[in-house]
Amino acid sequence: MLYQRSSQLFAEAEKVIPGGVNSPVRAFKAVGGTPIFVKSAKGAYLYDEDGNKLIDYINSWGPMILGHAFQPVVDAVIEKAKLGTSFGMPTEIETKIAELAVAMVPNIDKIRFVNSGTEACMSAIRLARGFTKRDKIIKFAGCYHGHSDSFLIQAGSGAITFGSPNSPGVTAGTAKDTLLAKYNDLDNVATLIEANKNEIAAIIVEPVAGNMGCIPPKKGFLEGLRQLCTENDILLIFDEVMTGFRLARGGVQELLNVDADIVCFGKVIGGGLPVGAFAARAEIMNYLAPLGPVYQAGTLSGNPLAMAAGLAMLQALDSDREIFKRLEEKTAYLAAGIDSVLKANKVEFTINRVGSMISVHFDAAPVFDFQTAAKGDNETFKKFFHGLLQEGIYIAPSAYETWFITDALTYEDLDFTIQAIDKVSKTF
Ligand code: PMP
Repeated sequence: MLYQRSSQLFAEAEKVIPGGVNSPVRAFKAVGGTPIFVKSAKGAYLYDEDGNKLIDYINSWGPMILGHAFQPVVDAVIEKAKLGTSFGMPTEIETKIAELAVAMVPNIDKIRFVNSGTEACMSAIRLARGFTKRDKIIKFAGCYHGHSDSFLIQAGSGAITFGSPNSPGVTAGTAKDTLLAKYNDLDNVATLIEANKNEIAAIIVEPVAGNMGCIPPKKGFLEGLRQLCTENDILLIFDEVMTGFRLARGGVQELLNVDADIVCFGKVIGGGLPVGAFAARAEIMNYLAPLGPVYQAGTLSGNPLAMAAGLAMLQALDSDREIFKRLEEKTAYLAAGIDSVLKANKVEFTINRVGSMISVHFDAAPVFDFQTAAKGDNETFKKFFHGLLQEGIYIAPSAYETWFITDALTYEDLDFTIQAIDKVSKTF
């Protein structure tokens, strides 16, 4: 496949946009080559500026769980746009989507909409700090909660891919309030809590990690966090930006039956428009302005186009109870297929998967935290990535990212992908 026009467009973009991209994870710096410029997408496929058709395993990093240009979402946005695109005043649709989200997700009474996952997580910790009157938070190495200052401490995703998990520009004053723990290591968390008695406002965690590849919580890890939080009056924040409305109707709280105090959303909840949200029981949410003292705001928050897209998406997920089962079956089929061809070709690998989140790590040892994720063989990953691209398959251009499976994928697409992986892995 040729990517000539993409290369030209990238050269033009580089002159006026840093690195030619508006979010670093889109760059091909870790794998070499130039990013592919998309022209359009429908269902499971991307169509690029060179006329190539690619099977998409990124799906806008998660939101397009029912495929690109999902008709009910497109129609809802078009109809809303005709009525005006922003008012900065309340609209009925904001209550409709809030009611539906509250009905779908356990343990939340109220939800506030923002414009990105970053804003959701940033606001959630401010709320937690205001509510508990404590300053420190615990986050896990390799987890990513957006690019706000408090979280760029051993952050995952693009922050590791591009070598800046601790970004310059984050002050020492901010960094000192973020305590770092090892994912899946409860003793480590307990030690931190002990050493910072009555100072920790919240523990924020990706309840299934997706930003160091996919890493499931070990049995008892989330339950243990819940218990430590309850015993120490710490709020447990589930960052369900990736997992919310993806792994189950009610997210990981429902899937693994563990209760969080505050839940953050992004990606699927906006149906592909810029939406994030954070939610909790009323006692906590009532701390927010204008009811309470914790300030949080947004000119475009609850934007009608974004709410229309989000509502259409949540309604689709709410009305078809088979969706999550289908996603599970398709992803399990893909995982089994990849497993068998990589084994046959004597590749060293580990596949991690929870529901429709999956990643292939090129290391034979179990991958359960940041350190074990970092051991993956990047040279093999580069060959894998470019080999698949030549076969018309688009995965994330970094070994630290998760694949997001869409319901629009057919079993023919999955078989095609497995055969392509067989072919490519013979060249390693
Ligand atoms: N939290 C998690 C778990 C994420 O995966 C991401 C983005 N990948 C974010 C927060 C930040 O979301 P956004 O990019 O919409 O700001």
